[in-house]
Amino acid sequence: MDFTRGKYVQLLLQLKESGYEFITYADYCSGDLPQRFVILRHDVDSKPENSLEFAKEEKRLQAKASYYFRTVPESWNKEIILEIHGMGHEVGYHYESLATCHGNLPKAFEDFKDNLEKMRALVPVSTICMHGSPRSVHDNKDLWILYDYKTLDIIGEPYLTTDFSKVLYLTDTGRRWDGYKVSVRDKIEEFQEEWNAKGWSFHSTDNIIQALQENRLPNQMMITTNPQRWNNPGIGWFKELVLQNTKNIVKRLVVLVND
Ligand SMILES: [Zn+2]
Repeated sequence: MDFTRGKYVQLLLQLKESGYEFITYADYCSGDLPQRFVILRHDVDSKPENSLEFAKEEKRLQAKASYYFRTVPESWNKEIILEIHGMGHEVGYHYESLATCHGNLPKAFEDFKDNLEKMRALVPVSTICMHGSPRSVHDNKDLWILYDYKTLDIIGEPYLTTDFSKVLYLTDTGRRWDGYKVSVRDKIEEFQEEWNAKGWSFHSTDNIIQALQENRLPNQMMITTNPQRWNNPGIGWFKELVLQNTKNIVKRLVVLVND
């Protein structure tokens, strides 16, 4: 069974075994990088309790990760944010202001600043990461066409400040590792073809584990997971399987329309 917490732990163990150091996205932005590293990025779209379980498993394995929380009720949980930060992980802001403000840039920037302040009242925040908002016509990153997050002491945004010519990007978007085919925005179009040609496109978590065992992966990686998609075997796991398969059909239609 894939996309269970146990499978995630297997992936972490293999990364460790393969000599990857775990760094946060803030570490990456600060420079001074280890020779071989992986950034574990988690987008907390919903079910923050799943993220808390991930954070605990990582802590057990002495792995650091970056957790991006939205400020909407399905993601925001003050106690969990504090607990994850307390374990030594990074907490960042998973922003979606341009979508929620229907493309109004000044309004969206105000909304962004308010939410950032609300998060900073709990924990230090130095990096941010856009939420894909697949049902919105607005790309949340477009906020930075007019404004500069650096004026708010933000040092990085994974989609804008990662050197993807060196860092391989893997994401579980659509509850599969080759979801760039169905994702509206969670993909790195500039490099995907090159990665496919190098054999760095995977469907299941076991495919990634196998590639690690065969030492076929590059020294620098970002692995993004949405912990709400990872459930222990049972009804939650089955519900997520059915839900994501339905969503992928809808997203594929959106991609076709956008193209
Ligand atoms: Zn998201």
